[in-house]
Formats: sequence, C-alpha cells, structure tokens
Amino acid sequence: MAVCTGCSLLCDDIEVTLESGRIARTKNLCRKGLGRFRSLYSERASPRADGSEVDVGDAISRAAEILSGAKRPLLFGWSNSTLEAQQAGIALARKLGGVIDDTSSFCQGPLMELVIRGQMPTGTLDDVRNFGDTLIYWGSDPTSSHPRHMSRFSYFPRGEKLQKGFEEDRTAFAVDVRESPTAKIVADGYFQIPPGGDAEFIEAILSVLDGKMPKVQDKKRMISFVTTLKKAKMGFIFPGLGLVYSLKDRLDLFSQLVARLNEGVPFRVIPMVGHYNMRGFNQTLFEQTGGINQVSFADGEARRGQENGIISALDSCDAALVVGSDPVSSLPAAFARKLAKIPVVVMDPHRNLTADLARVVIPTALSGLEAGGAALRMDGVRVELAPVVEGASPSDAEVLARIREVV
Ligand code: SF4
Repeated sequence: MAVCTGCSLLCDDIEVTLESGRIARTKNLCRKGLGRFRSLYSERASPRADGSEVDVGDAISRAAEILSGAKRPLLFGWSNSTLEAQQAGIALARKLGGVIDDTSSFCQGPLMELVIRGQMPTGTLDDVRNFGDTLIYWGSDPTSSHPRHMSRFSYFPRGEKLQKGFEEDRTAFAVDVRESPTAKIVADGYFQIPPGGDAEFIEAILSVLDGKMPKVQDKKRMISFVTTLKKAKMGFIFPGLGLVYSLKDRLDLFSQLVARLNEGVPFRVIPMVGHYNMRGFNQTLFEQTGGINQVSFADGEARRGQENGIISALDSCDAALVVGSDPVSSLPAAFARKLAKIPVVVMDPHRNLTADLARVVIPTALSGLEAGGAALRMDGVRVELAPVVEGASPSDAEVLARIREVV
C-alpha cells in the first residue's frame, strides 16, 4: 500500500500497479490524489543556476554560496516536506542565523498553535470515525479540500460506537458563507452566515448556552442547534480557513465557545490544515524552539514570532530558500514582490512561478512517491511514507544535508 501526500489526510490505503517502473494503475485515490500521482510525469523542475541549465551538484553548490553569503536568509515552505527534511531545514536555519517559517503563517498557524500548546482540546480522526456523533464543518469544505475526509473518517463510515453511521447515529452541521458541496451533503444542518459573520454566530451560540435569547433571525433554529450540541456524546469541530480568516485576532472567542461546550459534553477541534505535512512542521518547530511559526535564529538564539509578521520580516532578509512551496502564486502579492528583490533558491519537484523567478532551482523527489520519510496527519498521527517508484532527483532531506555540509 502506498500513502497519498495530496492532502493532510495522508490516505494510506492506495493500491499501485507498476509497469516498466512507471505507475500504470491506482485504486482508492480521490481526484485530488490522482492529480498528485499524475504530477510525477508532468511539469518537473530541472536544475538551473543564474539563468543557465546546470547539473544538480552545481545547483546545490550555487545555492550554498548564496545562503552562506547572506546575513539573514529566510527559509520558507516546508509544509510539503517530510519530518526529516523539516528537521534538516531547522538545523540549517540555526546554522545560517536565518528565519524559518511555513505557509501556515498565512492560514491555520494561530489555531494550530492552540492545539499544539494543549490549549484547545483535540482528538484523532480515528476517534471521529468511532465516536464522533456530532460534527461541525465550520468555514471548511472537506468535499473539495480533503475529498476522502467524510467517507473515511467523519460522516459516512460506520464507527465502533456508531454502527448506523450518518443515517441515524451522526448529526452534521456546516457553517459557511456559501452552500459548499459539504453544506449540500449535510443539507438540513447548513447555516449560511454573511462574510465575517462567524463572531456573531459564536455569540449567538454562547447566548443560548447562557440561557438567553440569541440575536439571530431564526431563533428557534439556533436554539434547536445548540440543544443538539449539548446532547453530543462526542462532538468534533473541523475549522477551515473561512473561520480563521473571519475571526482574525478574535480566535479567543472560538476558544471560549469550545471551553463552554466542554463544560457539558466532550467537544474536540481538528483544524483542516491543507498541505500534507503542515502539522509536522508546526509540531517539529515547536519541539525544537517553542514556536510554531516565524522563528529567527539571529545571534544564535531562537526567537519566536516576528514583529508585524513574516511579510515585514522579509524586509530584513537578503536571500531566501523556498522548499516545496509556490508563494508567488499562492500568497499575498506583497510577499512575492519582496521575494523578487532578493536572490531566491527553490527546491521543488515541479516547475512553478516562484521557480521561474528564482536564481537557483534544485529539483527534488516527490515525497511518498519517489522518497520516503514520515509525516504528521492533520490530527498529529505519524504516518510513514515509502517510495513507490525510483526517481531521478534527490530528496529534500538529502539536498539540505549537502547544503549544510558546505555552508
Ligand atoms: S483525500 Fe487527500 S490524502 Fe486521501 S487520496 Fe485524496 S488527496 Fe490523497
């Protein structure tokens, strides 16, 4: 069985048939996972330095030269790398006196920090399947982002204590600004809120919990919703970007809600992180430095959190190493504009917009398909990855070890 690294569910039941060393057929992949497997054979990166095609060894040497010549490099990406590569990246950042961060800085980082610090009750996806009788998909749409979430773990499967599954044993709700595919599945439990209306929705739930009348139009429905939550044997909330972006610096309101629910019944939270090992990066960095994002090793000390965020921190960085990420196409334009002003080294299995502007490109193996290692699923469960086919490129961990030897 192979593991799919198409998202943070890390499905480990993928059957693969090889023909002449190439993947000919697969079973159990969703459409997103199929895209990940097919990407083995398209748009692969090739080694480049200063605008010329070079071999991988020369690209690594040039990368080491740029990074060791920098006073304060940024080492960014990491959510699509194995735990081994993440550890090697943190060690390299420490040696270079650089700043290290991953893409969760722009999304689930603040919520994941509460989970990792033990300030937000959480559980595993196996607990969800076996015991999760009341589910809330909040600002998340697993049907699109984690296509097997509902079928493997949360809504459709029979569980140890939930033999009748979604037909009788589970109740699910979706809270979202639009009727997403997930909201359509849980049709009766869909609450549409206006953009930015999450705080108001939480306050309405808290009002009902306090025995007060909620300030919403459909009071009866809100009271019935909260009554269902209060009867849960084990509830789970799956917060997505919609909730995190909407609450911004009011995450404490969400913490307050979870704490209030837990006064009566167990309610757990599993953030819907996207990339396959985003949780792994946050956890590894936390264990090594006490921070989960934006750690600086300037002056040999690990300092957590950069004043005004990572985009501002980039002003004082004079080079960047981007690993397994494409910030130019997926992050705010301000980040891309600042990257364009400094020498950038990209390590990635694929060509992308960031690689196109990079001074050096080092092609790497696709984790889980061409390289092994380990990763943490969205719920923190460790999953071992084994290579399925032989690739032509070194793994992230190997490249980082070679750079570290030189700098
Ligand atoms: S749900 Fe995610 S991990 Fe599972 S097969 Fe689909 S993309 Fe891969």
